[in-house]
Amino acid sequence: MSKTLFEKICDLEIPSDIVYEDEYCVAFKDINPQAPFHVQLVPRKPITMLASASPEDPALLGQLLLTAPTIAATAGFEEAFRIATKNADAAGQSVFNMHLHKTGRASGRERGGK
Ligand code: 5GP
Repeated sequence: MSKTLFEKICDLEIPSDIVYEDEYCVAFKDINPQAPFHVQLVPRKPITMLASASPEDPALLGQLLLTAPTIAATAGFEEAFRIATKNADAAGQSVFNMHLHKTGRASGRERGGK
């Protein structure tokens, strides 16, 4: 089976701006960001969508969520972020390699707040 776009990005076959990677996942900046900070958090193990995760995957899914605050901190954003995933084309999924959209905004200080 041919690789998905995100598998190719994780395998460095397609360039991207990677902000974090470990043995479980890769996070890279979205090519069309919907927020000042918008990364895709992708498990290295290809899973088509959340509903296709198998009974062996809970630890991996938990690892993705546990990694999210680290990525925000690494990117210099405060721990105010959103995580979303789309399941199936009817929900708007366009890349069929499960991924978490992680979006955030600049800290209050960066926006001129207190
Ligand atoms: P989906 O709609 O499947 O939930 O999200 C796919 C996301 O992948 C979109 O936000 C889109 O901007 C992003 N995307 C599509 N192609 C590329 C690409 O080649 N590189 C990067 N970095 N992001 C991409």
